[in-house]
Amino acid sequence: MSIVEQSPFPIGQLNRRSTRGARVVWGDKQVRIGGGAPVVVQSMTNTDTADPIATAIQVKELAQAGSELVRITVNTPEAAKEVPAIREQLDRMGVAVPLVGDFHYNGHKLLTQFPECAQALSKYRINPGNMGGGKKRDDNFAQMIEVACRYEKPVRIGVNWGSLDHELMARMMDDNNRRSVPWDASAVMREALVVSAITNAARAEELGLAGDAIILSCKVSHVQDLISVYRNLSARCDYPLHLGLTEAGMGSKGIVASTAALSVLLQEGIGDTIRISLTPEPGGDRTREVIVAQEILQTMGLRAFTPMVVACPGCGRTSSTYFQELADSIQAYLRRQMPVWKAQYPGVETMNVAVMGCVVNGPGESRHADIGISLPGTGEVPSAPVFIDGERSVTLKGDTIAEEFQEIVRNYVHRRYGVQGSGVAGQNSNNLN
Ligand code: SF4
Repeated sequence: MSIVEQSPFPIGQLNRRSTRGARVVWGDKQVRIGGGAPVVVQSMTNTDTADPIATAIQVKELAQAGSELVRITVNTPEAAKEVPAIREQLDRMGVAVPLVGDFHYNGHKLLTQFPECAQALSKYRINPGNMGGGKKRDDNFAQMIEVACRYEKPVRIGVNWGSLDHELMARMMDDNNRRSVPWDASAVMREALVVSAITNAARAEELGLAGDAIILSCKVSHVQDLISVYRNLSARCDYPLHLGLTEAGMGSKGIVASTAALSVLLQEGIGDTIRISLTPEPGGDRTREVIVAQEILQTMGLRAFTPMVVACPGCGRTSSTYFQELADSIQAYLRRQMPVWKAQYPGVETMNVAVMGCVVNGPGESRHADIGISLPGTGEVPSAPVFIDGERSVTLKGDTIAEEFQEIVRNYVHRRYGVQGSGVAGQNSNNLN
């Protein structure tokens, strides 16, 4: 068979969309959004902001899980009054994560009546659909932008289809009726979201806010609408974009819907910061939305946060739970180590670990990983070969396989990513930035 001259299949993200870069700052901490910076992970608290202790604790948890910005709702005078106390608590705990204030209806009043709140926040989220109507709306918007200019804070103009500017929508529906072939209502709604974001950004610039202090979002809760809206928005402006599927829902539905929408856009180079709007189960852990956001970015090869564990689904050849327990324990172990390893072992977050159920795909998948283990299927000879950098190494046997494998991983990390090690990703690692 003759070889046909051709290029290799392309892989990876399409060209990243070029945007202005915004900076969100608290003290020495600076988070860049857009302008070529890595996609930023952010989250939002669900505590009562008027309770500064509970809110500071949750912000700390979200930041420790990896949230690079944390948004808090600022909805009442009581909440605005406590924002400086929350900031102070965080600073005392050594948590430098910048805080974003989420404002609706009364943001213009709260930001002017509580200047210490305006200062303690690092960024404001403004919803132009929730600021009243007519001249009042324009005045309220101008007042918030004036505060942002005074304290040099960036602003996200966050449009949401659940609170879209009624007057704009009505005007656009009237215009639509005059079209020779009117668009359907959902197309007008998508256009209205984009127009609202862009015209309000232009208005903010006219009022004196720097163009590189503006971030835009247009959130909807259906995947195809979100993809369509953001493609259009990104073609019509160069502001950095905050991506998120609003009201994504609970559990696997919320995760799947968010991943489906965001991965299409991220693959096209659209999106500079993401938030996953999961509804936690009662008593559920709020940090899950941070982990999901990180996992989306890492599985797409856009960023690396924690070593990834590749594991097979198991089948009739792994009828005991031993294999699941090992995969689960090594994943948890790696995540637990990361706060220390991140500083101690640069590059460790790019490491790939494989935990495989049996000999069918186990040795092959383990060879592709930096370090892997192939367990025996149920009823097979009780030995588990370990593979390091693609080469077969020791074989573990007996009841202590989990502990021994953990120890092997720890030694490998120390050797490869420690000061004496290369400190860089090796041949089996993904090319992550
Ligand atoms: S690697 Fe083995 S245990 Fe895992 S899914 Fe494949 S056949 Fe089943």
